[in-house]
Amino acid sequence: MPIRIYNSLTKQKEDLRLLDPKGKEVKMYVCGPTVYDEPHIGHLRSAYVFDMVRNYLKFSGYQVKFARNVTDVDDKIIEKARTLGMADLNEATAQVSGKYFELYKKDLKRLGLQDPDFEPKATEFIPQMIEMIKSLIEKKHAYIAGGDVYFEVSSFGKYGEVSHQRMDQMLEDARVEANPLKRYPLDFALWKETKEGEPSWEGPVAGKRGRPGWHIECSAMSLSYFNGAFDIHGGGRDLIFPHHENENAQSCCATGNPFVNLWMHHGLITISGKKMSKSLKNFITLTEVMKEDPSFGDEILKLSFLGTHYSAPLDYTPERVKMERQIWRRFLDFFDSSRAVEKSGVKLAEKRVTEIHQSFRQAMDNDFNTPEVLTLMQGLIHETYKSKDQIAQVSAAAAIRNFGSEVFGVVFDQSEDASAIKPEIERGIAERAAARKNKDFAKADEIRNRLLTQRHIELRDLADGRTTWRVRL
Ligand SMILES: [Zn+2]
Repeated sequence: MPIRIYNSLTKQKEDLRLLDPKGKEVKMYVCGPTVYDEPHIGHLRSAYVFDMVRNYLKFSGYQVKFARNVTDVDDKIIEKARTLGMADLNEATAQVSGKYFELYKKDLKRLGLQDPDFEPKATEFIPQMIEMIKSLIEKKHAYIAGGDVYFEVSSFGKYGEVSHQRMDQMLEDARVEANPLKRYPLDFALWKETKEGEPSWEGPVAGKRGRPGWHIECSAMSLSYFNGAFDIHGGGRDLIFPHHENENAQSCCATGNPFVNLWMHHGLITISGKKMSKSLKNFITLTEVMKEDPSFGDEILKLSFLGTHYSAPLDYTPERVKMERQIWRRFLDFFDSSRAVEKSGVKLAEKRVTEIHQSFRQAMDNDFNTPEVLTLMQGLIHETYKSKDQIAQVSAAAAIRNFGSEVFGVVFDQSEDASAIKPEIERGIAERAAARKNKDFAKADEIRNRLLTQRHIELRDLADGRTTWRVRL
């Protein structure tokens, strides 16, 4: 059965179609963070959702090329940089974006997410952006006004196709400030003239320095990496308008081809019904999650993400966390009991494991229905307890363990003891990877054996280069 995904462009679920004539390689681009503040669980949900999508596509036999950008020059970053009071605003801007990008990457690592294949910073792609803007001017889709360059929305007949809005609705939505330089209020900036001292580049307007608008960044980076078009474009629902509408318009006009096959949008996070913000003091970071639950906070957060369909809003409440904690506890108990059964010599039934994986895949093929997979997993646990069938139990444990780590990045098979030494395990995995890269296989083996004999932790190398772990008897 093909994988079906909801496409925001057509407003329906569609079979995954690929540009690759062999139907093997999936090209996916996701809008990453603008790095001017600490990452919160909303950023983490976005990164986690598309990591899960990539893992599942790989699990299903596809090759995935995954790109996620970083916006490292922007009004908000510059604003924050000014507060540092440094003499050189360029340096201050680089410092702010560097610091918050590091924090973002640290959180993703802690959640066990893999790096994208390509993670471009906007400031590294300025020449490509300028080239694209120049070609849009040449093709009469953009015009110079003062030191700025604007995209002329009326020059693209399909403007509105991503957000499914009429021009008058968009006008209302955009709350565009009056700007006498624009020919039409919805026209958006591809390039903006900068004020004295701000980060700036020689650009498409002779004699005036400026910097790119936000939308052109994603178009230039994705199109140059994927060579003109790609399969899946992802991001949060809050980006549909104007960001994705504008990315689509300028990209289609620049290349003369459709930009992407499929637009995939994830829902946003609210905290007890309210938007997350520092002023409301409901800004939840991974550090806070881990403070609440130092042993399993990260895994329980992932369960929260999986328990809600990616496209739906997720309301994060204390009651929900309590409920996820209970579910997590049930998984831990189940694996404690299964380890004991495995220890007594009961072997799993391969056929059963395959059957269980098939049921998970059926749910996942239907627009990545992770809540259903979690329900199936819990149903299996319940059933095996009831039947007291030990082969069924160790088979279910193996199926949940493998799918959990390979697709969801969740290590279900943990004991309290293992959670306490998790940092040590992860350090060991990183050191072993480094040793293998240096072809120091003796050292790599030594690390693997040490974890096994001293800590009862078994490492498993996956085909895509990741290493997962589990508690061994
Ligand atoms: Zn973007």
